[in-house]
Amino acid sequence: AGEDASAPRVTRSTCPYCGVGCGVLIESEGGRITGVRGDPGHPANFGRLCTKGSTLHLTTKPELAPQVRLLQPELRTRRDAPRNPVSWDTALDHAAQRFADLITAHGPDSVGFYISGQMLTEDYYVFNKLAKGLIGTNNVDTNSRVCMSSAVAGYKATLGADAPPCAYEDIDHAACLFFVGSNAAWSHPIAFRRIEQAKARRPEMRIVVVDPRRTETAELADLHLQLLPGTDVALFHAMLHVMVWEDLIDPAFIAAHTSGFAALRDLVRDMSPAVAANLCGLKADDIVTAARWFALGAPSGSVQARQPTLSMYCQGLNQSSSGTAKNAGLINLHLACGQIGKPGAGPFSLTGQPNAMGGREVGGMANLLSAHRDLANPEHRAEVAALWGVADVPASRGKTAIELFQAAADGEVKALWIACTNPAQSLPDQAMVRRALERAEFVVVQEVYATAATVPYGDLLLPATTWGEKEGTVTNSERRISRVRAATAAPGAARDDWAIATDFARRLEALLPARLNGRLTLFPYATPEAVWNEHRESTRGRDLDITGLSWAALERDGPQQWPYPQGASGGKARLYADGIFPTADGRARFFAQPFKPVAEPCDARYPLALTTGRLRDQWHGMTRTGSVPRLFSHAPEPSIDLHPTELARRGLRDGELVRVASRRGDLLLPARATDTVRPGQAFIAMHWGAEYLAGRNAEGVARLGVNGLTLPALDPHSFQPELKHSAVRVEAANLP
Ligand code: SF4
Repeated sequence: AGEDASAPRVTRSTCPYCGVGCGVLIESEGGRITGVRGDPGHPANFGRLCTKGSTLHLTTKPELAPQVRLLQPELRTRRDAPRNPVSWDTALDHAAQRFADLITAHGPDSVGFYISGQMLTEDYYVFNKLAKGLIGTNNVDTNSRVCMSSAVAGYKATLGADAPPCAYEDIDHAACLFFVGSNAAWSHPIAFRRIEQAKARRPEMRIVVVDPRRTETAELADLHLQLLPGTDVALFHAMLHVMVWEDLIDPAFIAAHTSGFAALRDLVRDMSPAVAANLCGLKADDIVTAARWFALGAPSGSVQARQPTLSMYCQGLNQSSSGTAKNAGLINLHLACGQIGKPGAGPFSLTGQPNAMGGREVGGMANLLSAHRDLANPEHRAEVAALWGVADVPASRGKTAIELFQAAADGEVKALWIACTNPAQSLPDQAMVRRALERAEFVVVQEVYATAATVPYGDLLLPATTWGEKEGTVTNSERRISRVRAATAAPGAARDDWAIATDFARRLEALLPARLNGRLTLFPYATPEAVWNEHRESTRGRDLDITGLSWAALERDGPQQWPYPQGASGGKARLYADGIFPTADGRARFFAQPFKPVAEPCDARYPLALTTGRLRDQWHGMTRTGSVPRLFSHAPEPSIDLHPTELARRGLRDGELVRVASRRGDLLLPARATDTVRPGQAFIAMHWGAEYLAGRNAEGVARLGVNGLTLPALDPHSFQPELKHSAVRVEAANLP
């Protein structure tokens, strides 16, 4: 009381970009955000920020608002009519009636929700309960499906739970760092600064980087394995072959703490380094070196004095039609050598988005339930139904991201609610995705930015709050829960995501009361803390138990790692130190699955292997970073990276505009000659979408960004699409 809202103040919060989860101090004055600094007290960054984090305040400039922000709900009642501004009551009444009508006519699975790893945990929780609890459909999935679902499946298949066992402090203990499919130097810059410092302090630390490109991360490597895209499983199996052949494994750990090793040992018997070298495009000697360093922790290690190996991995393993096998194949190596559960050792997945972890914790995916429960488990469904006060949670798996849009394109899913994500740019096979958005009878787009590519498809636009304006929690890659806090009031009529979902749910309850089970409402929330408390209670007795971590404790003690059960005085930095895993018999499981090539191999018509990925200074579809001019100084425009020999073979010049085509579409881009990619390969950054590239189209044909080229082949376990490999061809643009 009595606080002057216009006085200068500093608000402690969390960066909304990557999964490092850096703490930030937001400076504000007169209701405007004026600056941002790293929070010296946050254990993820100790005061540091990267280029993206340190320019956050520039993305919130009020003068940009009319161009880039949605500030009022807008509704169109016919596709050929313009959208008109409406009140929140009108907007949500209309949405509830449309959803109720479709559910009554076609059943609960005729609607679907596509949400986001950039939501806060409380937002995620309410949307998940809205779909699975109130409506009775599991059609709720998230853009984390295209980001981390293979990591989830890999952890569960081997360790028994979706729980990254490591912490950033393990970097300071590791003797060997094994990077796979991660350009952390650009994608997780502050975690990478810590790695650079560790290497400077301990030059004897060995760094291995497995990546088809010579990235900034690879520049720090003692050994760069520049493998052919999609061949990671062959590499891991060959490394295990070497470990078995040279007696580098840990038989005592295998016997005491694992199951299934014999089947895996049989599987890798024929995957010698020579065989894998051929499949992966590597030198056999390098595979042997990598296996020795991984198993022993460093060249100076021995089986008697094993030193710790930490592997850090990201989308190169996840975004693959073999994503689960890749994740599990890497974890197999840790289990075979006992490289887990001790300081500096273990498999450590790096999450791309700021709260992919929080979404997993509340079960905000089509095959998961709250608190790491499984939809396929009847006991888990009954537990969640009891927690929510509904009769049941439907048993059948919901449609995962690509399936959801395919079902909408086929006319099966008739209403889509899209929140905090931009599928008209970020999903593969954009032609299909845009067909889905056009064919769906009712599309709700809950968004911050009017510039997002999905906005034009919305029949109803709902303006949401964003970083600096909302309250809640996020969880970073090392299981650390941090508070996100509001420094300014919401602009215009924008509202918090959890509050929008809650208000919609209450209206839907009035129209479809059957699943209320006699209750007044399933959504009694007035604050994010109330949602947090319900989520906390749902974790009781689970591997991620946070019943001991109250909102007040989070306020008082700052960011904490889970688990944090009742009675605990702090979180847990490292899991599985006791060698007991959350499986039925307490043993971790080896995952024996043979190497499988990419879904779309290159051939004579499409001879180049295209990978996609991040640039240093941009985030996702650039709706936020695109408003900061200085972030374009690193890479002012999109390009396709090709080896000089590939340009010469086609008679193309460096910088020339070329046509890139796959079986699904084509686009025009300047070619960039670089030897960071091997001959036969190509790289395009994921950030520029159709709306930018359309300006380059001389033929008036829509060009759908890089995801107009990528294919929707899915991993059979995680349902994650293979964004890291498509077969393409490149030719002269031949513009008129
Ligand atoms: Fe934000 Fe990630 Fe940069 Fe940290 S490393 S400031 S979380 S983008």
